[in-house]
Amino acid sequence: MKIPANEQALPGTQSGIIQMQGVVKTFTSSAGEFTALRGIDLNLQEGEFAAVIGKSGSGKSTLLNMLTGIDHPTSGQVLVDGVDLYAMSESKRSLWRGRNLGIVFQFFQLLPMLNLLENVMLPMDYVGMYDIDQRPKKAMELLTLVGLEEQAQMLPRAVSRGQQQSAAIARALANDAPILVADEPTGNLDSLSASKIIDLFEKLSGQGKTIIMVTHDPSMTQRTSRTVFISDGELVNETIAQALPLLNHSVMQELGHRVKTLHFQPGATILEHKKRVDNVYLIQKGKVDIVLKQRRSDDVVISTLQRNDIFGEIELLQGGKSIASVRASIEGAVDLLALSREDFNWLMKESPLTEKAMTEMVQERLEERKGADRRKKRRGLFG
Ligand code: ADP
Ligand code: MG
Repeated sequence: MKIPANEQALPGTQSGIIQMQGVVKTFTSSAGEFTALRGIDLNLQEGEFAAVIGKSGSGKSTLLNMLTGIDHPTSGQVLVDGVDLYAMSESKRSLWRGRNLGIVFQFFQLLPMLNLLENVMLPMDYVGMYDIDQRPKKAMELLTLVGLEEQAQMLPRAVSRGQQQSAAIARALANDAPILVADEPTGNLDSLSASKIIDLFEKLSGQGKTIIMVTHDPSMTQRTSRTVFISDGELVNETIAQALPLLNHSVMQELGHRVKTLHFQPGATILEHKKRVDNVYLIQKGKVDIVLKQRRSDDVVISTLQRNDIFGEIELLQGGKSIASVRASIEGAVDLLALSREDFNWLMKESPLTEKAMTEMVQERLEERKGADRRKKRRGLFG
């Protein structure tokens, strides 16, 4: 049995505007069965601007189609804004979609015989949003927002592709839906037009819209608040992707299957000073204090590690006992991913770049700790 690679949907934390749990999608055709999504757990918070990144064929569009209700999962659950999409009838779902989701496709899909303004009014007509005589004004406001006020009366073919996509975004905003779903919205645009579209998404996310955008362009990750990697129908564990960015996706994926998730209450001891260390730990949630024990006074916190930081690697690389004690911060509970010595060694062999980065990090931390020790001694002499 497979352990889900993505452990973020832990009990008690399921509060996102988009929640997918154990979503599997198997296509059946004359050629046989193909599983495009293999157990997706994803939780997006309101106002997040998330990029879904992965190679062609990795399942990105299939994943979006599960969120929009365009296609249905073979198993698993999808909740959007608390609503179970697949508990609705087809016709209800279609109306629900019109009111709650703005959808942007790679190939703009504007109606060719309608001008841009009419294209933007279309979704308003479909769900009966705004009074009929208000619609042109509302649509014009949206075209102005995307910089197309002068092109409002033009047919799609009379404007550039970047402008067509901007119009498609205005159309997606027509009903002021809280969630925007975009499948490679910049895939057919030059880099300047693409950048403008992303500017617009950033602005909308700043105004509180939740945006999930599929792209195969890894450089987009710098502009989004969250990045979700998908590889062969599975999400790559985000903590692994952030903490060990030099690994390729298939190694990240394999690592996701090998790690164990551990949970600690606030203030709990994770590692004791001078005890043998058998794992490397990645922080998935919460903060961790590195503590030096003082013989006669209070313990000293020499550093605090956060989400996506690593510890235990010094001991594992130098073969030994813990050089400090490690505690879950009293501020909140901590979730860790634990990687055994064997798996850590496997990882170092798979990725020489990661090994190099890890060795450098160990050097830095040892220097840091020597500094802390010296300060402690000095305080002992003069304090
Ligand atoms: P991406 O958007 O990441 O390029 P897709 O989600 O479109 O990938 O497709 C994922 C995999 O599922 C691909 O191998 C694709 O061939 C397959 N697939 C997608 N849709 C269907 C379908 N309707 N029938 C059979 N296979 C499909
Ligand atoms: Mg696709």
